[in-house]
Amino acid sequence: MSSVVTPDRETAVLGRVPTGLFLAGRWRPAAAGGVMPVEDPSTGERIAEVADADVADARSALDAAVAAQGAWAATAPRDRGEILRRAFELVTARAEDLALLMTLEMGKALAESRAEIAYAAEFLRWFSEEAVRISGRWSVAPNGATRLLTMKQPVGPCLFITPWNFPMAMGTRKIGPAVAAGCTMVVKPASATPLSMLALAGIMAEAGLPDGVLNVVTTSRSGPVMREVLGDPRLRKLSFTGSTEVGRTLVEASAAQLLRVSMELGGNAPFIVLADADLDAAVDGAMLAKMRNMGEACTAANRFLVHESLAEEFTGRLAERMAALVVGRGVEDGVDVGPLIDAASREKVAGLVSDAVDRGATVVTGGTPVGQRGYFYAPTVLADVPPGSRVLAEEIFGPVAPVTTFGTDDEAIALANRSEFGLVCYVYTRDLSRAVHTAEALESGMVGVNQGVVSNPAAPFGGVKHSGFGREGGAEGIEEYLEVKYVGMAL
Ligand code: NAD
Repeated sequence: MSSVVTPDRETAVLGRVPTGLFLAGRWRPAAAGGVMPVEDPSTGERIAEVADADVADARSALDAAVAAQGAWAATAPRDRGEILRRAFELVTARAEDLALLMTLEMGKALAESRAEIAYAAEFLRWFSEEAVRISGRWSVAPNGATRLLTMKQPVGPCLFITPWNFPMAMGTRKIGPAVAAGCTMVVKPASATPLSMLALAGIMAEAGLPDGVLNVVTTSRSGPVMREVLGDPRLRKLSFTGSTEVGRTLVEASAAQLLRVSMELGGNAPFIVLADADLDAAVDGAMLAKMRNMGEACTAANRFLVHESLAEEFTGRLAERMAALVVGRGVEDGVDVGPLIDAASREKVAGLVSDAVDRGATVVTGGTPVGQRGYFYAPTVLADVPPGSRVLAEEIFGPVAPVTTFGTDDEAIALANRSEFGLVCYVYTRDLSRAVHTAEALESGMVGVNQGVVSNPAAPFGGVKHSGFGREGGAEGIEEYLEVKYVGMAL
């Protein structure tokens, strides 16, 4: 297979990324001199080393954020917006290099990295526009004697912890609204994929963000290093994107300082194909909902619930499309599906497939690891997956599509809601009234009707139940970074 990216270009892109901690506008090594490796998951080889922060570095990052908070909150909204707009332009202009960097550290195919860079940049643009629309209200108290004024003010210094699966977009979804609202921040990217965030920090500084507003700490000891920041009374807000398991421990840790908290956690999305669905559209949507990011997305379709009259045809067509996908290193020409992030993730996916097969499911396509190096797994479709199979209850985070059937719409809704998660549901139907009733009955923060992707910077992204709370994007996104102050005025 021919490569569109030469090894020289890979080296050049990697050579340009800063690898230190970004504290108070300066790149610095970790105080204790520690470094940690970054691996290419398609080869298992080390591609970079970045600073490995300890507790003292995390404290310095928060010191910088606290020192910058007052002046940043007092900066004119238009100026905050213009910085975000310039950052949007810079990310867009450098999209090719940033996409390659992302593919090298995370594995996804270049086309997917390009899509993530565009999506990430859109949060900068969206919130550049929101910065100047922060408003309050003025009203007359019911007794007519006093006036009620409400104003919105920045929450204060924030801590952002982000996952490896969308190394840049999960950052800009928090950084964009925080910058727009006038908050300062400490960002801790996932240790597997720190490079995209470090590149973004450089761009934010170049766009004119004052020193100390954004500080980046990379560390291999997330627990103890983040506990230091979470326990500091100067921190006011935590926004976390990651697994439900870690989210739960962070909610507990945030109780001591009674932080404002936003949690974007795991999902177990049902993809429902009702009896009257347009099957072509449903198969197209299924490919997107399942295979965006190799299935390593919180929004990934995790359970395909298909009406019994359509199940055989849907499964056959989905399997044909999945089998035609090209698996390989993300930088290679024509590759659709890259590797999973690490060996443990691949073992988990393989374990879920064998559990389903042991219980009686049929492998229609895939079902095996691929290649001798890297962490590749074949796009897989499982039919007749029995209730009770782990693959239906746990977040798969890989390219596996389990199909089960139902008889009535009510049965589909009951099956869909049988999960502790509630991030997103997909439903395919040609009937508007059925679509509305189903969307209303589903227990999730988001519903895609006849569409396999819901992510949109202009929409409020977020979940219910164990998928978390808080919303990112849309008009709602900036509210997470604003406090309402009420002033009563006696006349
Ligand atoms: P993870 O929970 O293992 O890690 C997320 C982040 O938390 C990383 O930066 C990690 O280093 C850090 N972390 C881990 N332990 C910590 C601790 N004890 N204290 C502080 N920080 C800690 O998740 P992941 O494997 O990186 O990402 C995959 C998960 O993220 C999936 O469950 C996925 O559904 C979820 N996710 C959710 C959304 C959403 O918007 N709802 C978006 C993307 C990913």
